[in-house]
Amino acid sequence: MDALAAAQVPGGGEVPDVAGVIVGWRAWRVVQRSGGPELVAPVRGTRWSPGRATHARCTSGHHDAAAIPAADCRCGLYAVADPRGVVGQDGPGAVLGCAALYGDVLEGSRGWRASRGVVRVLVAGPDVDDATCRGLAARYGVPVRRAATSLTTLATGLAAHRADADALRRAVGRAVDGTADGTAAGPGARLDACLRAVAPRPEPPAPSVRALALVLLTTLAVLLVVAV
Ligand SMILES: [Zn+2]
Repeated sequence: MDALAAAQVPGGGEVPDVAGVIVGWRAWRVVQRSGGPELVAPVRGTRWSPGRATHARCTSGHHDAAAIPAADCRCGLYAVADPRGVVGQDGPGAVLGCAALYGDVLEGSRGWRASRGVVRVLVAGPDVDDATCRGLAARYGVPVRRAATSLTTLATGLAAHRADADALRRAVGRAVDGTADGTAAGPGARLDACLRAVAPRPEPPAPSVRALALVLLTTLAVLLVVAV
């Protein structure tokens, strides 16, 4: 509860329905602002506020501005359940992560659209430098790691290790809604477990010519003994 309460707009006085918090994957671009690095939605350019809730806006003019997300519109803050939903969102400054969505939430075939969202864990693409990663961690108050691969490769790997990926989403959910009891790994530890799971395995060392020759000679010797 504390983490989400701290994420509210100062003076906004809103009380989120924490029981309805949804945690999903999504991608952002990191941009440099005067106050430090900031996350924006890749397509619409929506700014995700550091350290507090982001409120969805709709400029379509097709419905009541307070009714976000509208069923017959595309507005709202997006996140998906399957990491493959962010495949293809690579690009300069691309960042993948988990967001907690709440307020009014609509479920779609691949994920959700919500009226409110908070950034919870981040994995920056390989081109995002250390200073920017540190700035994101400080401003958003969340664990930030850097991927060794493209975000598409990372998202594909997360989908292949869905149990680890879902365990991270559940850990984020517990941290947000205050049900973390200290016995299970937190979001940072779960995020590290995900990255270990998807890390490329080192190639086993190739057997040396000398070792192969030794095996061959031993086999020949055994065959000779058996033949005699
Ligand atoms: Zn709309």
